[in-house]
Amino acid sequence: MPTVWEARRHLAQSLLRAGSASPGLDARLLVEGSLGADNADPDTLLPAEARARLDDFAVRRLAGEPVWRILGEREFWGLPFRLSPATLEPRPDSETIVEAALAQLAGRRGEELALLDLGTGTGCLLIALLSELQQAHGLGIDLSEEACRTAAGNAALNGVEGRAAFQQGSWTEGLAGSFDLIVSNPPYIPSGEIATLSVEVREHDPLLALDGGADGLGPYRLLASSLPPLLAPGGIVVFEIGAGQGPDVVALMRAGGLEFSGSRNDLGGHERALIFTLA
Ligand code: GLN
Repeated sequence: MPTVWEARRHLAQSLLRAGSASPGLDARLLVEGSLGADNADPDTLLPAEARARLDDFAVRRLAGEPVWRILGEREFWGLPFRLSPATLEPRPDSETIVEAALAQLAGRRGEELALLDLGTGTGCLLIALLSELQQAHGLGIDLSEEACRTAAGNAALNGVEGRAAFQQGSWTEGLAGSFDLIVSNPPYIPSGEIATLSVEVREHDPLLALDGGADGLGPYRLLASSLPPLLAPGGIVVFEIGAGQGPDVVALMRAGGLEFSGSRNDLGGHERALIFTLA
């Protein structure tokens, strides 16, 4: 029976040979996941049932399944989020959207703000925002029923279920109301580029959450004209965008009646969040 340390080293070596970009980290997370414990003592012997789980994890990781999918949960904004096949894995880059929105609302934190998240997935944007804006309530929309169920479970996991509702729907179809903040991380990868994405993304994130149509801008085009009527006076919109999409998305929103009021870069220095207000 191997120790935790030996199991980590063995798996890291297999992952390294298979060309993994982060073999040591992946191996640590998977061994800890097999044990159901963080910071396991490296000299502990790995029990048989953990070893069986780890063998399954190793096969899946070597076949390209991302670590967080295997573990079924990923952290975002310091909070845990359960994943399902219908949800994109929350990315650290998307925390830029939360940061940008909170910075915009800095003077309004005590207000009973109404939030809307379009294409909510795991619910990570909405739930992170509700965890910070204690008086706010929010609605998350997703085309996938399964994603709505996953997001509702994540709201409960993070203690904001009393202030979060999730509803199956296509973008703003049938929605009425007046929102102080609308956020969205829509699918924005051009259809023709999906095949060039890493196996982790291409085969394990849902296509529905990635494919933004021929030029990747389909969802923004659709939202440009449907968002202004849903914004409360003083309301703001914060979108996630893909690399280099800023100028096109700004032009689309301007044509739809929104005013560009700034952007925020992600940790890699790419423009990631665009902020708009009513013109
Ligand atoms: N950021 C994701 C990726 O590049 C795509 C997410 C999206 O289309 N909204 O893998």
